Amino acid sequence: MKLKVAENILSLKPYKPGKPIEELEREYGIKNTIKLASNENPIGSSPKAVAAMREAMRNLHRYPDGSGYYLVEKLSEKLGVPKQRIVIGNGSDDVIGMLTRVYLSSGDEAVMTDPSFLMYEIYVKTVNAVPVFVPLTDLSLNLSAMADAVTDKTRMIFITNPNNPTGSYIKTKEFETFMEKLSPEVVVVLDEAYIEFARDPECLNGLTQVAEDRPIAVLRTFSKAYGLAGIRIGYGLMSFAMAAMCNRVREPFNTNSLAQAGAAAALDDEAFLKKTCTLIHTELAFLQDQLKKMEIAFFPTQSNFFLIDVKADADDVFESMLKRGVIVRSMVSYGFPEYIRVNVGTRKENERFLQALEMVLKKS
Ligand SMILES: *Cc1c(COP(=O)(O)O)cnc(C)c1O
Repeated sequence: MKLKVAENILSLKPYKPGKPIEELEREYGIKNTIKLASNENPIGSSPKAVAAMREAMRNLHRYPDGSGYYLVEKLSEKLGVPKQRIVIGNGSDDVIGMLTRVYLSSGDEAVMTDPSFLMYEIYVKTVNAVPVFVPLTDLSLNLSAMADAVTDKTRMIFITNPNNPTGSYIKTKEFETFMEKLSPEVVVVLDEAYIEFARDPECLNGLTQVAEDRPIAVLRTFSKAYGLAGIRIGYGLMSFAMAAMCNRVREPFNTNSLAQAGAAAALDDEAFLKKTCTLIHTELAFLQDQLKKMEIAFFPTQSNFFLIDVKADADDVFESMLKRGVIVRSMVSYGFPEYIRVNVGTRKENERFLQALEMVLKKS
């Protein structure tokens, strides 16, 4: 059987998901594996969110509230943003999908960095638009090079702040200069998946940038600082007009009832968010102090993960770490053959990571 598949779909590289930890443990004959590869919250989920989801389980025979009424209301109240500016998604990924369906047509260009978050390219190509890649400069976004890549076909530009996988960040001033030059026909997607971890007061915060006359969509997620990656919930903040368009293409029941209840409760659990950020910042300092003592170079970060220069083949280091029960991310496929990315874990996890890294790098 040979079914016709559109060229733009054929051009997508199949996404290679990692194996479940249980499978890896069986394969390698290891136990108590720790995962520091997906920038997840090391202390779990907000207890308030978990309790709210338990309660919401009584009503799983009902369809979710398609508008996410209570979650949108809570977001509006917490962020000080009108409800009409909020679009909820099945993860912030889902909102990227809506924006590409609304604003990109066949042949339009979308500017993004190389490397960048994999989902941008997937969604752009899915609507038969063309990704235009701009290399990073010193592992950071180069906004003027990105502005230079804009042509009269460009309709979207992706900015990740803080950036994944490098942890670099954009300064508010830099962004404002960039916006002054940018054509008002280009939608700026400002992905702030890690913004809760940023500490530099000069770091751009998208909340201050969204306005009725500006084509900016800010994406945020409950997957990282709020510890709800498994339940899939995120949102976009944008102008009334843009939000109305996204809601036209949004699947009516895109966010499930557990996710809505969990996210709303997580927003009220400020203690959990604070505990998470305090842990990340304390442990980041611990990890980086130890790495300095070990004379291992790393890249500064405004996020809950960072890059380490292992001065060896990163795929080999990944593999050797895995055999010691520590999962990190090799940056080979991102174009950094000697870097690994690791996210901050609990003290115990970080100690195990450091021990494993020391052993592995001694050998190579
Ligand atoms: C983790 C991450 C997200 C979050 O995606 P969700 O779909 O909300 O889980 C978005 N952008 C980047 C760059 C990320 O690393």
